[in-house]
Parts: sequence; structure tokens; C-alpha cells
Amino acid sequence: MFLKGKSAIVTGSTSGIGLAVARALADAGAHVMLNGLGEADAVEEARASVAALGAGEALYDAADMTDPAAIATMVARAHSAWGGPDILINNAGIQHVCGVADFPVGKWDAIIAINLSSAFHAMRAAIPHMRARGWGRIVSTASAHSQVASPNKSAYVAAKHGLVGLTKTVALETATDGITANCISPGYVWTPLVEKQIPDTMTARGLTREQVIDDVLLAAQPTKEFVTPEQVAALALFLCRDEAKAITGANLSVDGGWTAA
Ligand code: NAD
Repeated sequence: MFLKGKSAIVTGSTSGIGLAVARALADAGAHVMLNGLGEADAVEEARASVAALGAGEALYDAADMTDPAAIATMVARAHSAWGGPDILINNAGIQHVCGVADFPVGKWDAIIAINLSSAFHAMRAAIPHMRARGWGRIVSTASAHSQVASPNKSAYVAAKHGLVGLTKTVALETATDGITANCISPGYVWTPLVEKQIPDTMTARGLTREQVIDDVLLAAQPTKEFVTPEQVAALALFLCRDEAKAITGANLSVDGGWTAA
């Protein structure tokens, strides 16, 4: 329970990678604020399952990651509940698959807001609290698409490249404050985000569902296996350890060898 007494916010933690990270942090003893979209019953089930782990409490905040004021309020709520936040996991994200010439402007704006700007707003609000305690861990879920591009993912690739630049800058600004800031860059992880883009990729490339999985998604991943949310969560948890305090400004791949190619 090395995180007992620490508090964490995990954006986009009602499903997928974020929920796995929330579980790992709670299991290690942290108080965890969950966030994300979802039906009330499913959200409460997720919150209760996290609260049942470890030694800490679990709260849910419905802040929309497109709303800077709501993000600041979420950080303030975690602070008044537990102090901190000591740990910030910027994880919320969406995808839209379409060629740039036809890319809907509203989708571009939403992806930049949720996948990139929300991390800025959360870090801006959380860093003063981390500095006050002389300790902090910021982990942002980027993607293999922070290092390489794929067709039809202009907004996502731009946002994830931007998230790495933002994180490097924050790492330099906080380097002597006991705070680290890093990105984790997964390859394809089997979550609702990936499931949802299969129909659009079928349309954009004229492929069957099986062809999208084998020839598009896993084509880039030399291991030919999806990464699991738990594998990503294990690295996020390690980055919260004192042994990881020299790791800052890094973009760590968990991608089955994708970006080695
Ligand atoms: P997911 O769809 O399971 O989770 C996304 C989370 O973000 C959900 O909790 C959702 O409710 C939340 N979210 C979406 N819009 C929101 C909004 N406006 N306000 C608040 N929360 C919002 O998908 P996932 O695969 O677990 O994705 C998590 C992160 O991992 C994303 O940043 C994604 O880009 C990244 N990622 C995923 C993969 C993959 O293959 N699944 C690979 C690399 C990176």
C-alpha cells in the first residue's frame, strides 16, 4: 500500500485503460477520483468496485473534459476531499476516423479539447497543490500515435504529438519540485475506443471487420496481440513509485514493438 494517504485523479476512468489505472492506484492504497462519461448505474458500479480495493476512498466527478471550468472544479473537489491531488492521470480520449479533407470541424475541436487541452487545464490546476506538498506524479496516456501517424487520424495524431510536447515542458518546469511528468504510449489496447472505430475504418478503407482487426490494427503491432489495460496500468503505477523519480519528460512505449519498426 505504498500510495496510502495519497490522492489521485484519473480522467476518463469509467472504462478501458483509465479504469484499470484507477484500480491499480486504489489497490496500492490511494484515494481515487474517477471521471468520465457513462450511464449512472455503470458509473456507480465502477466507483464502488474501485472503492472496495485498497485503503482509500473513491469519488466520481462528471467533469466534461471539453469544459475548462469543470476540470478546475474537479481538481478543487479532490483537493478539498483529500488534499493534493498528488497524482494526476490525464487519460480521457476519443477518436474519429476520417480523411482530413472531409474531417468534421466539430470532431477536430472535440479531439483537441479532450485528448490535449484537458491535460493542460488539469495540470494547470493540480501543479500548485503538488508543489505545496513537494511531491507529484503526472502520467498522460498518449499513444503510439504520439510518435508515428496513420491515415485518417489527423486530429488524434496531432493531439497525441501535442500531449508529449506539453508533458516534456511540464517535466522541465517541475524538475526540482519533486514532481515527474511522463507519457505512456500504448499500441492497440482492446477497449471501447478501439471497438468503436472499427465500423468507420471498415467504411474508410472498404474492409471487413476481420480485415480491420488483422490487417489494420494488428498489422502495426509485431507481437500480433492487443496490449491489455492492466499492462498499461502496471507502468503507470510504477511511475508513481519513489524508485521512478528520475523518470521525467519521458514517453514510454507499451506497444508490442509497433514503434520499433
Ligand atoms: P475508452 O473509450 O474505454 O475510455 C475513454 C474514457 O474517456 C472513458 O472513460 C470516456 O467516458 C472518457 N471520455 C470521453 N470523452 C470524455 C469527455 N468529454 N469528458 C470526460 N471523459 C470523457 O478508451 P481507452 O482505449 O481506454 O482510452 C483511454 C486513453 O487511452 C485515451 O486517451 C486513448 O487515446 C488512449 N489510447 C488508447 C489506445 C487503445 O488502443 N485503446 C491506444 C493508445 C492510446
